[in-house]
Amino acid sequence: MKYVDEFRDPQAARRLVAQIAERSTRPIQLMEFCGGHTHAIFKIGLRQLLPTHVQLRSGPGCPVCVTSGADLERAIALAGLPGVILTTYGDMVRVPGSRGSLQEARADGADVRIVYSTLDALEIARRNPARPVVFLAVGFETTAPTTAAALLQAETQGLPNFSVLCLHKLTPPATRAILDAGEVRLDGVLGPGHVTTIIGADAWRFLPEQYGISCVVAGFEPLDILRGVAALVDLHEDGEPAVRNVYGRSVSSEGNRVAQEMMERVFEVSTAKWRGFGPIPDSGLALRDAYVHRDAARAFPMEVTDIPEPKGCRCGEVLRGILEPTECALFRAVCSPRTPVGPCMVSSEGACAAYYRYGAEA
Ligand code: SF4
Repeated sequence: MKYVDEFRDPQAARRLVAQIAERSTRPIQLMEFCGGHTHAIFKIGLRQLLPTHVQLRSGPGCPVCVTSGADLERAIALAGLPGVILTTYGDMVRVPGSRGSLQEARADGADVRIVYSTLDALEIARRNPARPVVFLAVGFETTAPTTAAALLQAETQGLPNFSVLCLHKLTPPATRAILDAGEVRLDGVLGPGHVTTIIGADAWRFLPEQYGISCVVAGFEPLDILRGVAALVDLHEDGEPAVRNVYGRSVSSEGNRVAQEMMERVFEVSTAKWRGFGPIPDSGLALRDAYVHRDAARAFPMEVTDIPEPKGCRCGEVLRGILEPTECALFRAVCSPRTPVGPCMVSSEGACAAYYRYGAEA
């Protein structure tokens, strides 16, 4: 298949692996921010192919995983309100909260509907004009523009019953939080391809300029990731931290201006609470005053207290990159995709699910 096969060529992959081995002379620890990268890395067995001194750590790039327990509680409470239809992407329904999951709330009678796009949520609002329809907006910069577009459409199409529980998060501030915390030493970051399609590669310039480490933005096919790692090794060996983009077929320096303008119109930057991190300044998106009538958190105010992580679950440390999922005592023994204890085992982008699926041993 054109545009895919050329990024999966085994011979080219072997050449890149050899190039990395030849070029790297000293230890280097890299983080892939994005859960999509984590799954791709495990799928191709990349960690086993690299020299032992080229280490990869998984980062917090799974939107479902970093949704805080309190925000999940709020979503479950919202779903339980009379008349409310809560619409959400699929992975969120299985995340266990302190009083069960959205899936269990649905079994108890709440009207929770899985949607595949914001258009589905708008259609549900259109068909149910007498009922409040809330879209659970979870995701990074990749999906925030579609939420913004849905809000604008609800305005122009006159759908007063459509609102959003806005839990969108921004990736650069979380990367900054990891580096500021200093819990894990990083020599470079494999930049998230989909996110950077929206925000542009220049958004990562703070990494070399302020932290002295490189960022290479990469796609998700085997050769994309290998080229990303090879470029990070090159920059590290040269001692010249910089931002590079090896995903030029999707990512530009400035990003997607149309999407950025739409986000800018609808959202303002706010503090957001991340699972495993707590509040991170300027890492979330809130609705601007002009759209406050579509903010489900304000339309349905409720007290939601912080809840503890599930007993024994170490998702927080996994998300901060300081613990491998296999170091969690519950991994595989108790926690599996069929019986997930924490969100990192639920989500298709979660690190624990990737380790489990591709056979990492505890
Ligand atoms: Fe949490 Fe399960 Fe991952 Fe352990 S293996 S950190 S319990 S999701």
